[in-house]
Amino acid sequence: LSTWGAVPAGPPDAILGITEAFKADKDPRKINLGVGAYRDENGKPYVLNVVKKAEERITAAKMDKEYLPITGLASFTQNAAKLAYGADSEPLKQNAIAVAQSISGTGALRIGGAFMARHYPHIKAIYLPTPTWGNHIPLFKDSGLEVRRYRYFDSKTVGLDFAGMKEDLKNAPEGAIVLLHACAHNPTGVDLTQQQWKELSDLVAEKQLFPFFDMAYQGFASGSTDRDAFAVRHFVSQGHRIALCQSFAKNMGLYGERVGAFSLTTQNEEEGKRVDSQIKIIIRPMFSNPPLHGAHIANTILSDPELYQEWEGEVKGMAGRIINMRERLYDLLTHELKTPGEWGHIKSQIGMFSFTGLQTEQCKALAEKAHIYMTMDGRISMAGLNGSNIEYFAQSVNAAVR
Ligand code: PLP
Repeated sequence: LSTWGAVPAGPPDAILGITEAFKADKDPRKINLGVGAYRDENGKPYVLNVVKKAEERITAAKMDKEYLPITGLASFTQNAAKLAYGADSEPLKQNAIAVAQSISGTGALRIGGAFMARHYPHIKAIYLPTPTWGNHIPLFKDSGLEVRRYRYFDSKTVGLDFAGMKEDLKNAPEGAIVLLHACAHNPTGVDLTQQQWKELSDLVAEKQLFPFFDMAYQGFASGSTDRDAFAVRHFVSQGHRIALCQSFAKNMGLYGERVGAFSLTTQNEEEGKRVDSQIKIIIRPMFSNPPLHGAHIANTILSDPELYQEWEGEVKGMAGRIINMRERLYDLLTHELKTPGEWGHIKSQIGMFSFTGLQTEQCKALAEKAHIYMTMDGRISMAGLNGSNIEYFAQSVNAAVR
C-alpha cells in the first residue's frame, strides 16, 4: 500500500477554477471577472510606472542579495507603518509600534494569527464578517484561533447589516478578537461610513474587543491612501491597541512580489520591543526572513518624494478607472437597458469587487451562454471590465435576469 494511499483529493480552489474555465473557453467575447487583480483599459495586467522606475534604480545601485533581518527591511517597515497610521500618529511618534515585513497580506494575517494564538491573554476566538475573504477562515483556524462569525451583509438591501453586526459583537464575550476589513470589503464591496466606524469604535471599547484590521486595499478603494486609512487611524486615535495587516499587492501592483507588513500598537517603546522580540520568535521557524526585492521596490517608492507623488497619482488612476466602470455599468443597466431590479449598489460599493446580487443560476447562465466568468456568489471584479466589454457585459446581465 502506498504511504499516501489514504490521502483524499481536496476540492479545487473556487477562484482558480474560474480562471481554468475561462482559459479553456475559445469565444472571443469571453470575460474573466473572477480574478482579484487589477486590469488596465485593455484588459491587461498593469505594472505601475513607479515600480518600473524603482526597479531601474535598484538595478543601477547593484545591490547585493544578502538576507534581510527576521522582521525585514527596517526602512520599508517604518515607511509602511507611516503610510497606514499617518505621520502624526501617537504610537508611531512614540516608537510604540512593533512592525514586521511579511509575505504580503496573507503572510501578515498568518503572523498575526500565530501571535494572537500564543500571546493574547483573553479568549482566543476571532469574529469574522459573513461573508469574508474565503481564505480568512482556514487561515485563522490553522493559526490556532477559534473562528466565529458576525453578520455583515444584508442580501435584501445588497448593503451593510449594521444593526446585525452590532448585535453580534455586543453578544460576543468580552475580550474577543474582531477582524475588520479596513476598507474595500472583500467580497461585498460594502464598507462602513465614517459615522458607523466611530460608533463601532465605541462599541469595541465598551466590550473590550480586540480590533484586528486587514487592510489589503489602502488607496484602492477611494483613490486616496489617507481616506482609506480612516478606520485604522480613528481607532488608534481613540486609544485602541490594534493589530494591522498591510498588503502592497493591489496598491502597488506587486502581487507576485509578496510585499506586506504586520504590526501591533503597544503601550510604549519598551513594551513594543518585547512584542517585537516575540514576533521574531514566530517568524524565524516560519520562513526565517522575508524576500528582498519587493521590499526594495516598495521602499524606494515610499521614501522618494517624487516617486511617492507619482505613485499616489497611479493609485488614483486605478481606483478612478474602477469607479468609472461602476458608474457606466449602473447607467447601462438602469437607464439604457432598463434592466429589472435596483442597481444603486453597483455605484455605492467600493474597491475592486462588487456583489451584484446575481443568483447562482444566473451566474451559471452567464458562464454557459455568454462566456462571462465570476464566482457563483455573484461577485464580480470591476477591474475585469473596460470600455470594450462593458456593454456586452451589461446586455448579458440584462438577458440573464429577465
Ligand atoms: N485580505 C483580503 C481581504 C484580500 O482580499 C486579500 C487578497 O485578495 C488579502 C488579504 C491578501 O492578499 P495578498 O496576500 O496577495 O497580499
